[in-house]
Amino acid sequence: MAESQSSQSSAEAKFIYPPETFYSCIGCGSCCRQRWVVEVDSECYDALPDDFKTHIVSAHDAKARAKDESLVEERFIKRHSDAEGCPLLDPDDGLCLIHKRIGYESKPFVCREFPFRFIETPSGVIVDVSFVCNEVLNQRGAEISTHRDEIARLYAKSKRKIEVGSKIILKSKTSISYEAYTLIEERLLEIFSDRNQPFEDRLVAGNIFLYSIVKNVYDAEKILLKKDAILKKLNKFQPRHFMRLYAIAKKSQKMISKHKQQLFVVTFITFASSASEKRGKLSVLLRTWANNVKQSLNIGSIRVPVLPGSVPLRALVDVEFNEQDQMIGELAERYIKHCIFRKTFVAQYGLFRGYNILLLLYGVIKWLSRVFALRAGRKTVSRDDFAKAVQLVERQYVRHSDYLSFLRLNSRAMGFVDKLFDDLGFAPIIVKS
Ligand code: SF4
Repeated sequence: MAESQSSQSSAEAKFIYPPETFYSCIGCGSCCRQRWVVEVDSECYDALPDDFKTHIVSAHDAKARAKDESLVEERFIKRHSDAEGCPLLDPDDGLCLIHKRIGYESKPFVCREFPFRFIETPSGVIVDVSFVCNEVLNQRGAEISTHRDEIARLYAKSKRKIEVGSKIILKSKTSISYEAYTLIEERLLEIFSDRNQPFEDRLVAGNIFLYSIVKNVYDAEKILLKKDAILKKLNKFQPRHFMRLYAIAKKSQKMISKHKQQLFVVTFITFASSASEKRGKLSVLLRTWANNVKQSLNIGSIRVPVLPGSVPLRALVDVEFNEQDQMIGELAERYIKHCIFRKTFVAQYGLFRGYNILLLLYGVIKWLSRVFALRAGRKTVSRDDFAKAVQLVERQYVRHSDYLSFLRLNSRAMGFVDKLFDDLGFAPIIVKS
């Protein structure tokens, strides 16, 4: 994903805030206990007293060791262990020692920037927030837009801006203008907002809607479809067509067999393992997949990436997930809408592929929330299990590690994934399994 080279100055930037999103840092220290690399910029390093500097290491060796190309700074904080989190977190009160001793402005820039990230688009700078933050996840605090001064300051210094260009891939060889894309996005969000329909039916309906848009465009040449052409197509979608989308989505539940679901779980785990191990070779991927299939047929346990220990697949399948639970449904809807708002999937990876990747993430969240429920000895997923799964997926696969890690596969593997997506039966398996 491209990092922006030519960012607008914060004075002239037009910020676009996520609607109805709240956040206020209450210094809970939860983000400091995550398993991620805290990079230290030179301004921060130079201001640190010597006893703090003993916790900082050079990124050069570590970069080569971890092959982590996403590091942008020369140094980072060395963690004692996964459980303890950042060594500069005071265990007594959960506050940052740098903040306490030398002030907020002296903290590493990444710590001050969290939970914000900036996405530059032709219509302005999207202010993205991380759902790893408990306050964002639980909608607490003040509206994001009330932090505008701080946001402008952070934006001016951020080294992790992401750029969404003026062309959005509709399907191979065909792009649409960013303006045309926003019209499609509006319609997509309209489908999501119909609370008379179960959330998962809305997700599948969105897939059918985009499929229909993508399939019905002329793609013999490299063409850029402008706003008018897209408007013409969108105008064909009347309310009765939306009702038809939901009806098809409802029926799709019947298309799912237990075997298909199991196959999906195994495939998801394979892709997720491959992403977390940062290996993208097709042969490795296929070997892992075959191994996982074998284990699942033997009613054995499978290793869920990023979580310690293994999980019995059969027991996992039996954990009930009720998306009609209002608390789960509310968070799921808010999270998926935010993912669309931040533009890094649906706009960045192409309209149809990006949307399907989003569905895949929803499937991953569901399965991980089952793992959390099982570990807590519950037979039904609670809102808390679901929230923990959202945080894990957000941290590991979506926003913080490396946006591309979920897709760090070779192009042949990605071609295979695209073929699966091209089958309309795949979306319900992803969403409803
Ligand atoms: S440096 Fe301070 S704010 Fe940053 S992760 Fe460590 S304790 Fe948290």
